[in-house]
Amino acid sequence: MSNIRVQNLTKRFGDLTAVSGVDLEIKAGEVLCLLGPSGCGKTTTLRMIAGLEQVSDGDVYIADEKMNGKTPSQRDVAMVFQFYALYPTLTVAENMAFPLRAEKKSEAEINSRVQEVARALALTEVMERLPDQLGEGEKQRVAVARAVVRDPNCFLFDEPLSRLDVTLRQTMRGEIKEILNGLSKATVIVTHDQLEALTMADRIAVMRDGYIEQVATPHDIFTRPANLFVAGFIGTPSMNLLEATLTKFQDGKASIDLDSQKILIDVDKAVEGIDAGSQVTLGIRPRAFQVVDAAGEDTISATVDLIEPMGAETLLHMMDGETEMRVVVGREMKVHTGETLHLQCKPSQALIFDGNGQLVLT
Ligand code: ATP
Repeated sequence: MSNIRVQNLTKRFGDLTAVSGVDLEIKAGEVLCLLGPSGCGKTTTLRMIAGLEQVSDGDVYIADEKMNGKTPSQRDVAMVFQFYALYPTLTVAENMAFPLRAEKKSEAEINSRVQEVARALALTEVMERLPDQLGEGEKQRVAVARAVVRDPNCFLFDEPLSRLDVTLRQTMRGEIKEILNGLSKATVIVTHDQLEALTMADRIAVMRDGYIEQVATPHDIFTRPANLFVAGFIGTPSMNLLEATLTKFQDGKASIDLDSQKILIDVDKAVEGIDAGSQVTLGIRPRAFQVVDAAGEDTISATVDLIEPMGAETLLHMMDGETEMRVVVGREMKVHTGETLHLQCKPSQALIFDGNGQLVLT
């Protein structure tokens, strides 16, 4: 099976621990995105899996074989980097054939494999061109083709799309995902672009300061972020995280004191386990609000401070006393600065984080 498993993966550079006790398992056919801010240890994790960096502690298994101390070629991994480094004097066809020639495959086998992958990646029209004669998207596809053509144990991508413009990125995300889906290999993609992770990954591992904060499907990462870091990191505009005091929990609803007002709100029934009077954080995504006509016990009232048109939607920066909130409304809604709006949270959209910043969930 072409799977990847790392246990207690740790990397120290002198005094700095860049990666701390990371455990991950990526199944054959699965795409895992390592996502996190700059410097959190994503690339170092990938390089240890590839064999480009020795581990300080822990084990790397690929296809169920322990790979510690083995070279990248012994691990039989295919890597695609941000800088795709195509051979400038070789045509697309020759670039693609290169790794197969290095493996001393027969010319017939090389030709058939190269043609097959070229068809899958829509490169047949440009096979005789040099890299200089290609657009950025085509270059990226050739880099992927060169990795795919070898039929390696697994694929490792490091920020593969970061050099492409926004439109091309969007297309390539879909294309790469489709190709990977057909290959039954374990794939790890390093990215700091959450949209890339949310659209390409079967599961996302969110990293911070060398640690894994959460590993889950894109849906769960978005709807059930394990802690305040993941909640604030995933989603644009970012989730409103409002400091609050829990005053009561009854019948699935929590009474919560915010800065200057109270709200009665539907929350997960695990909140029942929190003592009344505890400090919590109420998390509500900017798109989880609806504006209603009148204030009620289930609304938050806030004043429009700044209006930011975003095309189909409008982002409102709002103030409730000293507390800032972001609310996304439809473009058609007419609002003006200084106006007070009454905001109701859509059902099952409010999250409660405990005093340690952990999501409270059954
Ligand atoms: P980015 O998205 O900016 O590439 P990253 O999440 O991939 O960040 P890493 O490149 O893995 O992060 O780096 C993690 C930490 O390890 C950083 O503090 C970095 O400065 C440090 N680091 C990485 N490689 C080395 C090295 N060879 N020697 C010393 N420190 C290093």
